[in-house]
Amino acid sequence: MSNYSNNDMPNQQILLVEDDGRIVDFIRRGLKADGYNVEVANCGQDALTLAQKDRFGVIVLDLGLPDMNGRNVCETLRQRGVDTPILMLTAMDAVLDKVAGLRAGADDYMTKPFSFEELTARIEALMRRRGGGESNLASKELKIADLTLNGETHQVNRGSVSIELTPKEFALLECFMRAPGRVLSRTRILEQVWGYSADPLTNVVDVYIRQLRRKIDDDHEIKLIKTVRGFGYKMDAA
Ligand code: CA
Repeated sequence: MSNYSNNDMPNQQILLVEDDGRIVDFIRRGLKADGYNVEVANCGQDALTLAQKDRFGVIVLDLGLPDMNGRNVCETLRQRGVDTPILMLTAMDAVLDKVAGLRAGADDYMTKPFSFEELTARIEALMRRRGGGESNLASKELKIADLTLNGETHQVNRGSVSIELTPKEFALLECFMRAPGRVLSRTRILEQVWGYSADPLTNVVDVYIRQLRRKIDDDHEIKLIKTVRGFGYKMDAA
């Protein structure tokens, strides 16, 4: 956490939403030792009460909660306009869980059991992305064919149709639209959008590309996101 200047200091508050006391102790103790402030919610309702706009730098959210599914917590927060990065914890390595979690608006996920080092690496990456996010938007509006992305209003349109994107989908689209026609590897996309280098086990990029295609391309004759077999993806109007 040392590579920040003072006025660029990320929000060190973390909300941990988890009902398993042992996991809470393990995570809270470790994060406190690393200088974070940790608040704990033991159920979904408490999480929804605590997580108001911009209060936390990152929310660590368990999928299995006593009163509701973590996915619903995530969805509800996004509907309320809370765009705090959310790291979802899943009990098993179920692809369906992950996809559903990401669709609900989570930024990243981790499968239990995980190492503490992995957890802090993900949290730091989420905070880094967020800290650098706004200032990276040099030009306000990006355009490829009839697709436009406005960095100030976060408005995305294809033709006259407005498209709703989660914060992560928006970041992924921005990454493509800043490099029209250029092939981006999965590694490159992971670094730019998620802030960490390639984890060979994660298919998070492919999951997100699928979602983005569904929202941007599926209803249109001209597909803008192209798969470049063996290399990655690119976006162009050709
Ligand atoms: Ca749990």
